[in-house]
Amino acid sequence: ATMPPLLAAIANAGRHGVLVKSAVVMERLGATTRVAFDKTGTLTRGMPHVDEIRSVDLDFSEAEVLRLAAAVEVDSEHPLAAAIVRAARADGQQLPTAEGFVAEPGSGVSAWIGGCRIAAGSPAAMLGAGNEAVERCARTVTNTLQEKGFTAVVVTSEGRPIGVLALTDQRRPEAAVAVEHTTRVTGSTPVLLTGDNQPAAARLAAAVGLHDVRGGLLPDQKVAAVTELRSEGHRVAVVGDGINDAPALAAADTGIAMGGAGSGLTLHAADAIVVRDDLTAVPTVIALSRRARRVVV
Ligand code: ADP
Ligand code: MG
Repeated sequence: ATMPPLLAAIANAGRHGVLVKSAVVMERLGATTRVAFDKTGTLTRGMPHVDEIRSVDLDFSEAEVLRLAAAVEVDSEHPLAAAIVRAARADGQQLPTAEGFVAEPGSGVSAWIGGCRIAAGSPAAMLGAGNEAVERCARTVTNTLQEKGFTAVVVTSEGRPIGVLALTDQRRPEAAVAVEHTTRVTGSTPVLLTGDNQPAAARLAAAVGLHDVRGGLLPDQKVAAVTELRSEGHRVAVVGDGINDAPALAAADTGIAMGGAGSGLTLHAADAIVVRDDLTAVPTVIALSRRARRVVV
């Protein structure tokens, strides 16, 4: 007996490194008209590196800014957190104990260190509209770093900025090819949805051939963007890797998780999981579905 086309397609997807959870998902993938990619860990490798450290408060040296940030980030599963902890350890730093850790997906983290509340996160979350000199200084430093294409992480103590870390993540070598194949198989250019700042997002997008770039999005704004695309009549597949992407994956017609080493995603939020570290598997599996659908009909 021959295998039903959708089951054969699931087996075939498996050979290409994609775990498709059901025949319904396998069929739905082929109807995709728009793909939304997350940035960090999806179009990039998810192994960022701390390139620069700036202090904006004379009471804190650059080494101290890094040490405090790392002490808070030890408990975070975010790729940026791992980079900050690696940088501090490489610097030979002993990390102080942090207590009362709290993570705010898409924004940052905070914890108590020696009686002070230390936080590290996105400039949008850490720098209010405050007009204090130190905030203005931190904003200037941040803007300069972001315009250079860095991801900026602002570190605060008791709500006051003490420093800014500048990180970069290499793009996946196959990202541009994956975007090109995705465009061909879906008939539309993919969109980039990211919580990172717009200049860093735009820089990466240009390098991989993406034109529709939406940066600075909180997790629920990623959901709103997906809902908007669907209300325009698109069948949307969202590809992401982080815990902050789980709501957007759930809001999509199909949610695809990058299941590679650096992934922080709860995999049950996804309809399909890319288990091989290769983004071109995404357009491949959409193409497999389309072929199977043609056989079914
Ligand atoms: P992306 O959409 O690119 O995967 P996220 O939504 O996870 O990014 O994060 C958005 C922004 O929030 C990051 O660029 C960073 O500035 C900040 N952020 C989130 N989590 C952390 C963390 N653990 N430490 C520092 N900054 C964080
Ligand atoms: Mg991510």
